Amino acid sequence: MDEASTTEAVTRLPRVLRTRAELRAALDAARQPVGLVPTMGALHAGHASLIQRARRECATVIVTIFVNPKQFNEAADFERYPRNEASDVATVGAAGADLVWIPSVADVYPAGFQTSVHVGALTEPLEGAARPGHFDGVTTVVAILLGLASADAAYFGQKDAQQLLVVRRMALDLGIGTEIVACPIVREADGLAMSSRNALLTPEQRAAAPVLRRALLAARAGYEAGERDGEALRTAMRDVLAEAPLAEPDYVSCADPATLLELRRIDGGALLSMAVRFGPVRLIDNEPIA
Ligand code: AMP
Repeated sequence: MDEASTTEAVTRLPRVLRTRAELRAALDAARQPVGLVPTMGALHAGHASLIQRARRECATVIVTIFVNPKQFNEAADFERYPRNEASDVATVGAAGADLVWIPSVADVYPAGFQTSVHVGALTEPLEGAARPGHFDGVTTVVAILLGLASADAAYFGQKDAQQLLVVRRMALDLGIGTEIVACPIVREADGLAMSSRNALLTPEQRAAAPVLRRALLAARAGYEAGERDGEALRTAMRDVLAEAPLAEPDYVSCADPATLLELRRIDGGALLSMAVRFGPVRLIDNEPIA
């Protein structure tokens, strides 16, 4: 690559679209296949990994940035959610996307909006129990995005493992043809899963936050040493979390990876997961064991 094209690659910016009409026109002219990466912005290397995967697999890559009010069950969490459009657009471009849709609330939810998409039992445990209404907000907005983009593939992070299962279920149930692609969790060097909310941690909370990863790895080590009792693995995770006084566990789970119901005994894999509060900031992480 010569110097000029290197410079161009570094400074490349995606086309920014605002309205549904602009989105439609851009996608009508787009080369197929189209890959969609839905985000709420405050982009980090985890989001970039989704965009890069889409870039490798699709002729056109579109990222959406929308802090979806319907999926926040706490108004304060919505208000404090980090927003930085200029740096997000640069990150989207550097990761290789062609288009970025940054709609207003009225572009996503037109006047008179009165539809809600609800997925059943899968949304009841874990995040669904801790955050009432959260998944209805997620599935409603993702159904809108999948409908508007009619993408061939949509890329989601394993970081939000329950969200991934719920979106897959919805796409299957509603006959949405978009392939739902799962992407691995990207972590900081100390093991903390990257999250837009990490920026809200105080230095002391940030220093303590890798305890989620340590707790998950302790349970994984127990499993690898032959432990098959679900409660024993949940206890192993709680014991590690208890070593960090700033960490207040919301839930700790060892669940069936398909139904997300808590397991008494593991005989066909499990999803270890947890949500932990550090003051007002709530972090989640998970580890599948097979
Ligand atoms: P969000 O902006 O938090 O709604 O996330 C948008 C997408 O990025 C979701 O599919 C997330 O699962 C995914 N994502 C967020 N953090 C990570 C991470 N650390 N590694 C991989 N994917 C992530």
